Amino acid sequence: MSKELEIAVEAVRTAAIVCRKVQANLVSAATLEKKDKSPVTVADFASQAVICRALSAAFPDIPVVGEEDSKELRDDASAGLRASIAQHVGLVIDGEAGEKDVLGWIDQGGWTPDGKTERYWTLDPIDGTKGFLRGEQYAIALGLIENGRVVLGVLGCPNLPIEDGSSEQGVLMTAERGGGSHLVKLDAAASTARAISVSDVAATADARFCESVESGHSDQGASAQIAATLGITQEPYRIDSQCKYAAVARGDASIYLRLPTRKDYREKIWDHAAGAIVVEEAGGVVTDVFGKPLDFSRGRTLEDNRGIIATSGRFHAQVVEAVGPALANV
Ligand code: AMP
Ligand code: MG
Repeated sequence: MSKELEIAVEAVRTAAIVCRKVQANLVSAATLEKKDKSPVTVADFASQAVICRALSAAFPDIPVVGEEDSKELRDDASAGLRASIAQHVGLVIDGEAGEKDVLGWIDQGGWTPDGKTERYWTLDPIDGTKGFLRGEQYAIALGLIENGRVVLGVLGCPNLPIEDGSSEQGVLMTAERGGGSHLVKLDAAASTARAISVSDVAATADARFCESVESGHSDQGASAQIAATLGITQEPYRIDSQCKYAAVARGDASIYLRLPTRKDYREKIWDHAAGAIVVEEAGGVVTDVFGKPLDFSRGRTLEDNRGIIATSGRFHAQVVEAVGPALANV
């Protein structure tokens, strides 16, 4: 395991602990009823703070493209949030977590690719914020980009069953380019990791496909049409976050469709880097809806790509072909 992977795994594990603590301490029936988003805000910032703190200590020269920055936390109205974030960060790190330190760590993730720097991390501190609030699926996603390609990815999935259908939850998936994909229980030693591979289902008619729970994030009407074209009879597997990539990587599903709902939307690099390499190293294929490889060198978004198709690989071309006629918003 490279030093990069070792540090990334440790950082994501720590972030997962902080997310679970926030969920236990702050998410309640009352916050759900009020549609109060503050618990996920606390977890999101705390997660980015602990990961950036760990990355910058080990790799001071590798910048981090994180989803969040501390701007909205610095005004007086955010005093309560700031205190809660610092308190939760303090629960999981060795040493002090003063509010100023925490804001500084969050902002270490505020880098924007400049077209010249060849190597950077990209971080989604909580992907699937809506899933987090519902107590369902979310992921902590960290990827390392080199020359526009993902070379390393870590996906922390605190609520994902350790196997499809199991009641025990908490999975960590890791991948390094050329080294395969591995799964370990979130709270187990790295030495217990096992290699994972994609589904060997041979025909699209027997495939299960996954997509967003949120219909605003992926066109569910189009996916139903595509499923019919491919002869798929199983219901779509709807889960939030990059847990969809995790599902394809270990064979719970064979296809992940993310079909644009708006012409002007560009996918964010942190929403795909870690998940994409975990699927590829498990034997799958990831492209955009036109079958084009993902280009992570174009800034904070996948500027030259639209949507996502991830599959176990066998029938990728067939899926791309079926998607074409159903696309309404590209
Ligand atoms: P998911 O949990 O897969 O539905 O996706 C969550 C991610 O969707 C968030 O991290 C957002 O960055 C992203 N997102 C927000 N708006 C859109 C949109 N219009 N189309 C696609 N993705 C979106
Ligand atoms: Mg996200």
